[in-house]
This record gives sequence, structure tokens and C-alpha cells, in this order.
Amino acid sequence: MSDTSPRVFVVECDVCHRPAGPGAHFCASCDVLSVDPDRMSYAATRWSRLGAFALDYLIIWLTLGIGWLVWLAIVAPRGQSPGKSLLGLYIVRTNAEQAPARHVWLREFGWDAALGIVAVVLLALLGAVASSVGEFFILWFWLTVLFWAFSFFDAAWLLWDRDRQTLHDKVLGTLVVERSNERR
Ligand SMILES: [Zn+2]
Repeated sequence: MSDTSPRVFVVECDVCHRPAGPGAHFCASCDVLSVDPDRMSYAATRWSRLGAFALDYLIIWLTLGIGWLVWLAIVAPRGQSPGKSLLGLYIVRTNAEQAPARHVWLREFGWDAALGIVAVVLLALLGAVASSVGEFFILWFWLTVLFWAFSFFDAAWLLWDRDRQTLHDKVLGTLVVERSNERR
């Protein structure tokens, strides 16, 4: 007996019993992080992610970066950035374990710092062959535009990603969640 009809496999979420959808980590129906044994972690909403970004930039701007770095040192061991700590968001590894502080530092600071260093090195190398001060400033302007364009593209990736990951989340193997006992 052979069955020739095509088979469609729909993975059912074991929390909400609806289709788990195409994401690798979160259920598309109820947002639960499927590998979390406690079933306490849910994908942070896109609005709360954008809110945390805005808060982090606001705090950086208000404290000239220094207060933000001190705050990050306090909340990084809890898997949070200052903006995320205000909104109750946590950074976890894709195995649902809380991200260690070094991952939080890499994700929230190291990534942008590395991009900034690349931009400064490019400015130094290309600036060395610039023929005038005006040319140097045009170069500086376009490298700044490029830096911000890449940063926004990197962050905006979560808007269409099935697991709401940014590009730096994908590189570092991290997810952003909220805890069900802290849910609104
Ligand atoms: Zn579900």
C-alpha cells in the first residue's frame, strides 16, 4: 500500500496547540519560546523592541554615553540593556538560557563600537589620499551616513524576521524575550 497524496506537516505548538509557524525559535501563534523548559519566555513585540532602541539612544544622548555605560554594567549580568530593563525585556541565547554579560556587552556595545572603528579606519586610510580638507569632510559625511544606514538596516531586520532577530542577533545567536510573569 503506497500513499501518493502529498503530505503536509504542520508542527503544532505544545503550549497553544495551534500551528507553530515557520519561525525557528518562537511559536507564530502564541509567541512562546519553544525550547524554554519553563515556557516563561515569549518573543518581545516589535513595538517594545523599537521602544527599547529609542530609550537606549535617548539615555545615551542624555548622559553623553557615560551614564548609559554605567547602567549597562549594572544590568548586563541580568541579560538587559538600559532600554530593555525599563521595558522588562531580556536577551537570551537561542537555547533559552539567559545571555551572559559578555554577550550583552558584545551585542549592545561591542557591535556598534566595531562598526565605528571600521568607519574610523576607513576614514584614516581614504583621508590620507584626500587632496583637500573639503574632500576629507565629504568622505567623513558619507562614512557617517553609511554607518547609520547599516545600523538602521541591521536593527530594522527584526521587523520582517520570523523570530524578530536583528542581524546582530543572528551573528551572536541571541533572541529578545519578555517573561510571562511580567507580561502586560
Ligand atoms: Zn503557541
